[in-house]
Amino acid sequence: MYSSKAYSATSEKSPLASTTIARRDPTENDVQIEILFCGICHSDLHQVRNEWSGVMPTVYPCVPGHEIVGRVTKVGPAVTKFKVGDIAAVGCLVDSDGTCPECKESLEQFCPNLILTYNFPDKHTGGVTYGGYSDSIVVTERFVLKVPSNLDLAGAAPLLCAGITTFSPLHHWGVAKGKKVGVVGLGGLGHMGVKFAHALGAHVVLFTTSPNKKEDALRLGADEVVVSRNADEVAKHAGSFDFILDAVSADHDINVYLNLLRRDGNICLVGAPEKPLSVAAFNLLFGRRSLSGSPIGGIAETQEMLDFCGRNNITADVEIIPIQKVNEAYERLVKADVKYRFVIDMASLKSGT
Ligand code: NAP
Ligand code: ZN
Repeated sequence: MYSSKAYSATSEKSPLASTTIARRDPTENDVQIEILFCGICHSDLHQVRNEWSGVMPTVYPCVPGHEIVGRVTKVGPAVTKFKVGDIAAVGCLVDSDGTCPECKESLEQFCPNLILTYNFPDKHTGGVTYGGYSDSIVVTERFVLKVPSNLDLAGAAPLLCAGITTFSPLHHWGVAKGKKVGVVGLGGLGHMGVKFAHALGAHVVLFTTSPNKKEDALRLGADEVVVSRNADEVAKHAGSFDFILDAVSADHDINVYLNLLRRDGNICLVGAPEKPLSVAAFNLLFGRRSLSGSPIGGIAETQEMLDFCGRNNITADVEIIPIQKVNEAYERLVKADVKYRFVIDMASLKSGT
């Protein structure tokens, strides 16, 4: 074991603060990574504040962060894909059983024994996994990804969660040229959803509660922008969407969006608000519409998404912050004041406390 600098929360009420954590020394198949950048996902905030206590109660101290890009500092003797000095990335998954039917189909996100990057049992340390708000991490090679060399590293970090979480359902639901696609919420996930849906050739309509994000949404690839608090503007799109991606982090009325779907249209939740959403049955019955959800993505698809981003020059729009500003960034996230992903420059962890 060795010690690593990190930021952790010690309770749901406490801010994140500087600490030291124990990491395992790299074993046979492990890659040790010096973390250069780590994105701030709204899921980090939900977990730090124990807002998902019913499904995934938070174990404290909690070191969040699952949008990790860094440089390889050590590899175990059996590692073949990485060498010291390579750029490497880690997303939301750090392990799975590798033997179940889901893993065999490269769908590790559905493995009954999956291990998430933080707040999951860590068989190596006996504690819980610690995420990327840290200067270093050790991950088994199977869960380490390659970043195309043309991508900016800070802008690439959010691809590891916001990127794959939006890319995967857009593919699964057949978003392509000729489809009308809605994206709800222009935050970290939403802005990647807009970029991907646009790159796939769909007609993209962005729904936002923030009128000041309108210009940006058009620049990011939306064909139309609707301020969702304006019911008349929303109603103009009734019954017209093939697919809607809902990336909202807080309580909201999804019946509004169900009514915008055409026959057999689908709305997929990627947002994970704290409280259950209510659905009026008739909004599904009429038009045989469906409501679905989608969690992150498997490792093969994450690499596919990164390669797609390399080919199409896609990265997140980021605001780079020192780790000392992380609590301020959380306050801004709650207010939807993010353009469009905070990314921590981990060099700040070395210099400050
Ligand atoms: P984020 O950057 O904070 O963006 C959320 C956006 O939702 C806001 O920017 C805002 O967009 C909109 N919003 C916020 N409050 C709202 C309200 N009361 N009513 C309507 N819209 C509201 O969050 P994120 O990191 O993109 O994450 C979004 C959600 O996805 C979170 O719940 C997160 O936990 C979840 N998530 C799920 C997965 C998965 O595997 N499915 C993976 C990562 C994250 P506008 O200003 O445009 O309205
Ligand atoms: Zn995330």
